[in-house]
Amino acid sequence: MLSLITRQIPKSASRGTNARLTAPLVAGSPLLRRWNSSATTEHDVVVIGGGPGGYVAAIKAAQLGLKTACIEKRGTLGGTCLNVGCIPSKSLLNNTHLLHQAQHDFKKRGIDVSDVKLNLGQMMKMKEEAVGGLTKGIEFLFKKNGVDYIKGHGRFVSANELEVDLLDGGKKSLKAKNVIIATGSEPTHLPGLEVDEKQIITSTGALSLEKVPEKMIVIGGGVIGLELGSVWSRMGAEVTVVEYLGSIGAGMDAQLAKAFHRTLQKQGLKFKLSTKVVGSDRADGKVQLHVEAAKGGKAETLEADVVLVAVGRRPNTDGLNAEQAGVELNQRGQVKIGDRFVASTSHPHIRCIGDVTYGPMLAHKAEEEGIAAVEDIAGGHGHVNYDVIPSVIYTHPEVAWCGKNEEQLKADGIKYRVGSFPFSANSRAKTNGDSEGLVKIISDAETDRILGAHIMGPNAGEMIAEAVLAMEYGASSEDVARTCHAHPTLSEAFKEAAMATYDSPIHA
Ligand SMILES: Cc1cc2nc3c(=O)[nH]c(=O)nc-3n(C[C@H](O)[C@H](O)[C@H](O)COP(=O)(O)OP(=O)(O)OC[C@H]3O[C@@H](n4cnc5c(N)ncnc54)[C@H](O)[C@@H]3O)c2cc1C
Repeated sequence: MLSLITRQIPKSASRGTNARLTAPLVAGSPLLRRWNSSATTEHDVVVIGGGPGGYVAAIKAAQLGLKTACIEKRGTLGGTCLNVGCIPSKSLLNNTHLLHQAQHDFKKRGIDVSDVKLNLGQMMKMKEEAVGGLTKGIEFLFKKNGVDYIKGHGRFVSANELEVDLLDGGKKSLKAKNVIIATGSEPTHLPGLEVDEKQIITSTGALSLEKVPEKMIVIGGGVIGLELGSVWSRMGAEVTVVEYLGSIGAGMDAQLAKAFHRTLQKQGLKFKLSTKVVGSDRADGKVQLHVEAAKGGKAETLEADVVLVAVGRRPNTDGLNAEQAGVELNQRGQVKIGDRFVASTSHPHIRCIGDVTYGPMLAHKAEEEGIAAVEDIAGGHGHVNYDVIPSVIYTHPEVAWCGKNEEQLKADGIKYRVGSFPFSANSRAKTNGDSEGLVKIISDAETDRILGAHIMGPNAGEMIAEAVLAMEYGASSEDVARTCHAHPTLSEAFKEAAMATYDSPIHA
């Protein structure tokens, strides 16, 4: 029956299966239900996982004329990023920053407001609206591009065959010339701390607490812990961050990490660095968290209403049967990269992208790999430049960086020059009354080519794009410094830091 239907519709009618098949079939019709539950459909590309890696790959594949399906078990598209990651956290970060400004900053700006109060329900509603609008937007893009969206849990039967447990019951089989594994990641748990998403929570629970805890402990001083710690601190929680390492913001340039640490302390966050968590108890509605010095020694017990475990994420390959299809995983459960290409696996027709494989766990890295994997399928090559993937912490001020930091360059024995420029000397930042932080550019001592850029300041997450573009094109610090930047803008601080790298800045 299936081949009959597809043959009746001209090949040029649509690129994807969905449009071909749904044109004559009405949702819920007996024919469609039978097809869903039993027939085997063949696609050029099947993507498992509809996160930023998977959905971007699926849209690109359909745009390149490949017959494409995307399997997603969550019930909504967008993966961790849109549902329980980047988007909801940024909604809360933005709105709690406004709350904080209204409560602590407006007065000095000549804005008198009275009775500023948090309406947590409304703030959460706005977050849900952002998530709902964006996830539905991707569903629209799937329809527009003719991607066959299959709601359910997918697993390999063999390298070219997949089975899906459909969310609304039944099973569906798919044949695929190429498969892209884009199953993402999940929060890592800590032994001795049983997550209930109410008192002991992961980032997912931290995006939906129903009331502001009096005391909150955040385990992990990385990006997610610091962002969500800031959110609840601005809403009035007393937040203590417990970090195993001796500094926060793992991966950040040490100079910026120190400055950022001081800034967050000024904002009221407390820190216990070089400290490890060894267990927990619960009594009287509180969590007792047992900690000791990371290298062993002094033990103490901390108490909180809510403990957020933000110690990293693990690849999501459970129930995928990847190994049955000839795909190798490493000890951490990550899909191993093959020799041929960044997104290749040990099987020639199966590719892997995003959090489920190596590299930084970032949405934009997953997207880049999604495009590269599909271009490799369609044309035999794809490209990702791992040297210029930006990282951003969306606190206030923001912190953003790209490329190498001083510690890495020292370790690699590379000679470099550093130029920096404080926002306190930037006219726009001063005028805005928002001048904490600096821009730091590192360039090769011999060639002046930019090797790294590190920014702490307002809008650092937007400004880092200039560094990424400069580095992608192999620019020197002098190239940036001789490029005209509009006045008065924060980006002039970037230009002046570039000047400071090979010569002297004007305004500092
Ligand atoms: C609180 C938080 C904030 C974050 N903020 C940022 C940020 O600001 N910027 C940034 O770049 N990154 C951020 N991240 C990280 C970002 O969310 C991830 O790097 C990104 O979502 C990875 O994309 P992905 O497509 O690889 O996987 P995911 O987004 O994890 O998507 C994978 C999808 O696959 C589905 N799936 C898994 N197994 C199966 C299966 N067998 N069958 C069908 N479906 C399956 C899952 O349901 C999931 O929807 C944040 C993460 C968190 C938790």
